[in-house]
Amino acid sequence: MQRVKVKELLHWSSKSLANSSSPDIDVWVLLKHALRVDDAWLISNGQTLIKDQDEMRFRELIDSRKRGIPVAYLTNSRQFWSKDLYIDSRVLVPRPETEILVEAVLRCARRFQSPAILELGTGSGAIAIALSSELPDATVTATDISQDALAVAGINLEKHECTSVNLKKADWFSGLESGRFDLICSNPPYVASGDPHLKTPELQHEPESALIAGKDGLDAVRQIVSAASGYLHPRGWLILEHAYDQVMPIQAMMANARFVDIHSEKDLMGHDRVSLGRRPEWPDHAQGRRKPGNADTPIPG
Ligand code: GLN
Repeated sequence: MQRVKVKELLHWSSKSLANSSSPDIDVWVLLKHALRVDDAWLISNGQTLIKDQDEMRFRELIDSRKRGIPVAYLTNSRQFWSKDLYIDSRVLVPRPETEILVEAVLRCARRFQSPAILELGTGSGAIAIALSSELPDATVTATDISQDALAVAGINLEKHECTSVNLKKADWFSGLESGRFDLICSNPPYVASGDPHLKTPELQHEPESALIAGKDGLDAVRQIVSAASGYLHPRGWLILEHAYDQVMPIQAMMANARFVDIHSEKDLMGHDRVSLGRRPEWPDHAQGRRKPGNADTPIPG
């Protein structure tokens, strides 16, 4: 086999990944992985000839990528909140937009001392690890219904020495102590079962239970919003990521469940991506009997 240069291999492979939305980045990351080198090496070694076994390893990765397997599953790694997480097909690949959820939770957390945080459906543990790294005084309970996901989250907690995160197997709130949390957050499954987007090759390799939530994609959110008040301290916040077109039904669900201060945060595309609501201070409010002098602020806008 005639040996090829790094630069040539990058060029050819990128062309062969025409179906990917980011072929240049994909080949760059996969070649670094196959050669076990870093960015600096790849930048300065364009003319270096590649060893046959390295080229074979790289071509296998490119073939898998052509079948739609996400790069994170091929390299077993993904950056989230500047942390290198271990990722495999047992969990959803962390998305950049989920950092908006983390930012929203951090803003709410400022109002509490040593906040007790619950993250529902943690998957790889990305959100819980980001939160505990920013909030050293917080205690974070991170749940998942999938034992497989909890195994991946456990690997990541150990990797990042996150001792303030407790993992728990739970179907949303089942088995959790009521009225215990200052903040409840989640990036639940929110894709509708018939969404054509599910046909994209990457999504077909990710766990269905982390993506799909019934006919309208809102089954998980409905369960979370309807029960969340019971697990929050008065004035605690519920913070949820959702699809770009789900803000109206989710804000309505929160209002129905008597949350106040309901508002949403936008992603970089300008779509509402994260919605927040606060449990009112007075339980009376939940029964529609507002106390005089109640300090709850009205719903903005
Ligand atoms: N953002 C993901 C997607 O649309 C879905 C993640 C989720 O359901 N929580 O691909």
